[in-house]
Amino acid sequence: MNDLTRIMQAADTAARWHVGQRRKGQAAEPYINHLLEVAFLVTTATEGREPDVVIAALLHDAVEDQGIAIDSIAGAYGRKVADIVAEVTDDKALPKAERKRLQVETAAHKSREARLIKLADKTSNVRAIANSPPPDWSIERRLDYVRWAGEVVAQIRGTSPWLEQQFSEAANHAEQSATKS
Ligand code: ZN
Repeated sequence: MNDLTRIMQAADTAARWHVGQRRKGQAAEPYINHLLEVAFLVTTATEGREPDVVIAALLHDAVEDQGIAIDSIAGAYGRKVADIVAEVTDDKALPKAERKRLQVETAAHKSREARLIKLADKTSNVRAIANSPPPDWSIERRLDYVRWAGEVVAQIRGTSPWLEQQFSEAANHAEQSATKS
């Protein structure tokens, strides 16, 4: 199967796996919007040259949010894609605060491919805080999220200056819109 076909298969599969899931923001966008945004960001950052990173971006929340087995991703898309997805998957058995602390602690030790997806994921999430914040999140909680995402990004500086720039712009926008509302 050629790369374009594998990428579109992953997009179609991701849409099916996440069909019942929505973003937490007030617009409640279908979850596939987030997956496509992250995939588009990493495609741009890698100039379209790294199809496995794009596929892993499309599937990056499948294990964590939909309980898809890593082995079924490995079977359909290969071990490299599965390894990247595993690297960006939190251990849901741990309490949330511990998972967040571990993200900061472990980010710098991850593969370049996983770091690219982390940067794109945090950019997408922080953009969402600015454009469609969860209605039940206080301003303080929004700002806390942006600060924590910034800590994760600070650990992986140098991975992709372009993506880091996208993140900074999103963080500035989110901080401005939180303090204005
Ligand atoms: Zn995500």
